[in-house]
Amino acid sequence: MLPAVEACYERVRSLLGLEIGIDHCPHAAGPPVCWCRKPMPGLILQFALRHDIRLDASILVGRSPADQTLAMRLGMVFRESKGFFESENREERDAIAPAG
Ligand SMILES: [Zn+2]
Repeated sequence: MLPAVEACYERVRSLLGLEIGIDHCPHAAGPPVCWCRKPMPGLILQFALRHDIRLDASILVGRSPADQTLAMRLGMVFRESKGFFESENREERDAIAPAG
C-alpha cells in the first residue's frame, strides 16, 4: 500500500479514535470500470466477508444518492455524513464500534 494511503488511514483512525479496518478502491479515477467502486457493492461485500460483518446490522455513512442506493441494495441503514459525526449522534456511533 502506498505510504500516502496508509497515512490517510491512520489519520482517519486518529480522528475517530478507533482502530478500525479501512479499505478503498485502488483503481484509477474516472468512470467506474471495476467491481469495487460504488455504486457497485463489491468492496463492501468483500470487507464484510473478511471481517465477519453483518450488513443488516451495519450503517453506511455517505453523502450522495449513490451511497444511499448502495446502502439500500445491501440492506444497510444509511446516514448522511453531514451531521453524523456531530456530538448529538455519539450514541449511535458508539454503538457501531464500542470502546474496548
Ligand atoms: Zn476499484
